[in-house]
Amino acid sequence: MPEFPFISISYRRRALRLVRDIWCGLLDLVYPPKCLVCGKMQPKYLCDACVEQIVYIDPPICRRCGAPLTEGRCLECAGAEFEFNSAESVGVYEGVLREAIHQFKYSRHRVLGPVLGGLLVEHMRSRGDLKYRAASIVPVPIHKSRLRMRGFNQSEMLAEHIGKSLSLPVLRDALLRSKPTRAQVDLPVEVRKENVHGVFQVKRRDAVSGRILLLIDDVYTTGSTADSAARALRAAGAEEIHVLTLARSV
Ligand SMILES: [Zn+2]
Ligand SMILES: [Zn+2]
Repeated sequence: MPEFPFISISYRRRALRLVRDIWCGLLDLVYPPKCLVCGKMQPKYLCDACVEQIVYIDPPICRRCGAPLTEGRCLECAGAEFEFNSAESVGVYEGVLREAIHQFKYSRHRVLGPVLGGLLVEHMRSRGDLKYRAASIVPVPIHKSRLRMRGFNQSEMLAEHIGKSLSLPVLRDALLRSKPTRAQVDLPVEVRKENVHGVFQVKRRDAVSGRILLLIDDVYTTGSTADSAARALRAAGAEEIHVLTLARSV
């Protein structure tokens, strides 16, 4: 009979989760030739046929929020005020891209990190924008309770890949998410801003002050998370803050 049932249950759960994560990681390595989105047996984690189905967001886009422009103007961010200078996303948050992000984040297939990070790198190379060449990369942090659950920060993995591929500095510990928040996608639009208000803190002022920063996240929905993070960075003296995400809801 266990003397401390709560401790033993929580310990057992954590141990089981650890075993499952290690097992999944090993399976990913041992059996790589399968697309994690469509299940087709072939040598990539995201097959070419799936990549072709991604709906990319190409110019013309809104220079502030990155939404595709339909009639020459943006209807998405009219009246909104953002602390970041610009936002851009690789593609639309639907279909293959949405599923790939879910497999990466919620099914914890870490092997998709470099694959999805590669899409961001390709985007940056194809734009060839000066702001990207001078930037230091800041991943949007997750709260430590979520980090314990997931085992990794998806934005940090994406940022690491960009940093390595383009030889840009990654400021991993410059920004901190000091409060746990509910996932933005689960919330009605009108409370999303409130949900992330004041949850970010700059830990290394010296690292961000006077710098051009590229804030990396997986998904942009209303811009509230990016705005809240940018507010903290701006208050710490960041010169410019540009947001880049894998996907964007439109
Ligand atoms: Zn596929
Ligand atoms: Zn806009």
